[in-house]
Amino acid sequence: MKLNITCIPGDGIGPEIIAEAKKALDAVAEKYGHDVQYTDILMGGASIDVHGVPLTDEAVETAKSADAVLMGSIGGDTTTSPWYKLPPNLRPEAGLLAIRKALNLFANLRPAVLYGELAQACPLKQEISGNGFDMLIMRELTGGLYFGERKTVEENGVRKALDTLTYDENEIRRIAVKGFDIARKRRKKVTSVDKANVLDSSRLWRAVVEEVAKDYPDVMLEHMLVDNCAMQLVKDPAQFDVILTENMFGDILSDEASMVTGSIGMLASASLNDTKFGLYEPSHGSAPDIAGKDLANPIATILSASMMLRYSFDLDREADAIDGAVKQVLQDGYRTGDIMSEGCEKVGCKRMGDLIVERIK
Ligand code: NAD
Repeated sequence: MKLNITCIPGDGIGPEIIAEAKKALDAVAEKYGHDVQYTDILMGGASIDVHGVPLTDEAVETAKSADAVLMGSIGGDTTTSPWYKLPPNLRPEAGLLAIRKALNLFANLRPAVLYGELAQACPLKQEISGNGFDMLIMRELTGGLYFGERKTVEENGVRKALDTLTYDENEIRRIAVKGFDIARKRRKKVTSVDKANVLDSSRLWRAVVEEVAKDYPDVMLEHMLVDNCAMQLVKDPAQFDVILTENMFGDILSDEASMVTGSIGMLASASLNDTKFGLYEPSHGSAPDIAGKDLANPIATILSASMMLRYSFDLDREADAIDGAVKQVLQDGYRTGDIMSEGCEKVGCKRMGDLIVERIK
């Protein structure tokens, strides 16, 4: 298969971690007979330095013509970097918002996986974290409260603010379909999270999710109120497979879920549109404090590349090969500094990439 991938190395540790993800992709491509072609584009500070803007139209066109986009991270030290003296629409992060919009990425996926080998990083008690957990939060990214009409007015000398939460059934249906499709590739369980005891938007959410579920009789559906879900994430995280939820609830719950894994350098993410196209990136930022020192953990980016193979190319066997190699490296006792524990061997970014490549082959 031919894989046409646009890469955004970006800033800080971005180029280092993207280099390792490319190595892992090349290794699976060689093993299973695929042809991977990369086209790099500039975004964030790297683009500001060359073009004066965080994302050019040409870069967007290149991304649009690819099958998928793999990104490192963008941004610099927000207190010292000159990029943050620029107006907000010219700062590095504006590039990320612009590309998400240009590519119509409405579904955000964030897996939260606790590997048994990293259990000590989990802030939960051992009897709760047990042998690990593996869930995926599917968050609607372009609707709801963050995109509704908002205003602040003054009435009779009293300031009053208004934010509106709107969803139409099409917005709900398209994310629900994504959620069920992805559950089919996993343990076939969807937990749809809402606040249907209070909000009309949640009642519509629940009704539409139930309609979509009829097309997926092999996937188990349960509904959970968001307040209960927040508790269950720290009480019994292993119960979850795919958590399907709207924008604001997903924003909060995905951060909570990442937190309970305890290791930011391990967390992949993806943003998808209504085709197979997606933008894949680690959940962490550009870590300017460790950039250029070969200290970054490349695993979140390598796992993002694995998500790309699974969700944009339907190459599940190849994705399994990467996921398996990551697990094996951890089992073999290798750790970057951020996940280091006693008795393990500390390695840098490049060596971690090499060790994963060896296990893919
Ligand atoms: P950060 O995620 O970059 O770093 C937080 C801490 O985690 C730092 O101590 C860093 O060294 C460490 N860390 C992060 N990733 C790591 C990795 N792979 N391996 C080892 N350690 C790692 O968050 P921040 O410091 O708040 O932000 C730095 C810059 O990144 C800012 O400019 C911010 O706007 C940007 N940012 C970008 C994205 C993105 O590109 N999607 C996301 C978040 C933050």
